Amino acid sequence: MPPTLFHHARVITGDGRTVIEDAAVLVDTDGLITGIGPRAAVPVPPGTGTVDLGGRTVMPTLINPHAHLGYLRDATVTRDHYSRANVLDHLRRLAYYGVGVVQSLGTDRDDTEITLRDEQRSGALDDPELPLLFTAGTGLVAPTPGRINGGPYFATDVVHEVSDPAQARATVRALARKRPDAIKFWVDDRRGTRAKLTPEVYGAIIGEAHDLGFLAIAHIFELADAKGVLRAGADGIAHMVRSPGPDPELLELLQRDTVFAFTSMGIQRTAYDDSGWLDEPALTATVSEAARADTRARVAALTAEEAAAARAGYAILEDGLRRYVESGVRVLLSADTGARTQFFGVAEHRELESMVRAGMPALRAIRSATQLPAEVLGLPDRGTLAPGKRADLLILDADPLTDITATRAISAVYFAGRRVDREALRERWTPGARVR
Ligand SMILES: [Zn+2]
Repeated sequence: MPPTLFHHARVITGDGRTVIEDAAVLVDTDGLITGIGPRAAVPVPPGTGTVDLGGRTVMPTLINPHAHLGYLRDATVTRDHYSRANVLDHLRRLAYYGVGVVQSLGTDRDDTEITLRDEQRSGALDDPELPLLFTAGTGLVAPTPGRINGGPYFATDVVHEVSDPAQARATVRALARKRPDAIKFWVDDRRGTRAKLTPEVYGAIIGEAHDLGFLAIAHIFELADAKGVLRAGADGIAHMVRSPGPDPELLELLQRDTVFAFTSMGIQRTAYDDSGWLDEPALTATVSEAARADTRARVAALTAEEAAAARAGYAILEDGLRRYVESGVRVLLSADTGARTQFFGVAEHRELESMVRAGMPALRAIRSATQLPAEVLGLPDRGTLAPGKRADLLILDADPLTDITATRAISAVYFAGRRVDREALRERWTPGARVR
């Protein structure tokens, strides 16, 4: 691949501030950015190829640190679907939608994801069209005596049950041998139906994770649990809190330097939303009619009271996000992709829309989906468009700063300067369809 100049574009660099009009991006033979700026300011070496982007918008590919790979097929999420092939299918779907990095959060099965990740990092799995996989391996949960535990419904059989601090530490040590990218644990009584980890036990999980150099990420829904895990030193919370929403003490705990908060809003909206999103061409390109019909039927089956409760719950999340933003909390896009009907790739773009609709400025929302997760995952060469970074480019037909839904009007995706063959990918899911 010769050096390539992408020009005639608006560039959103991903740093939360910078937009360059009539910009050019120079990419070298290794797929790294060597120059970026207004067209006239980027020197072009002889022999450089050019790609005229026709006034389109370029931003970094997305990074989603919260997904559950391998379980979703059509609109059903179950362990019966789990396989290496399905994990790979999900990664390809993410690539199609311009998600360049994904972290699977604690629901690995038989080390399938750990193995894939290791193969990818060693080069044994050399597919430049796959996003970079991160995985927390398999997470920890409290046992519920006589019943199934309160882990994620599709993975209750594989999450590790721990009931005391010693067992928690021993389990984290065993997990650590596989070098997961984080340690995940669930603190959730599933609306009073399950036992949840006590502060003593999750304190041991977090302590051991930190002793061994791992991030500790907590699934929580309740305000008291969010504060509890953060007081115990958790690095991040995987959800926003339900009613009553964040209080000043939580905001203060979240303002600590290294702490981050995941959004995970879209999964709540999808539960009741019948606004026509299932008919968008960007979605129908990869999601089967059966899956869309199932999802529609699920929404239609809600009683008026259930729908109203879901809407009210979602309004609390929107308010919570606004307070995070006002307080300067390090917010990361989190799509909980692969759970419920969080369709791969679609969910990430819908999450961005949810964040902006709630009142987050679009440039900051984009930064929460690019630069900030790259920092948290320790990826110095990704997350923004700047000299020395990988040319992971999401090229859009319209400007997402005007309308955030433009992030799914995708013209092209490049990983390390190499164009992803989206049409060939789409043929896997909707053969013969004419899209856009
Ligand atoms: Zn999750």
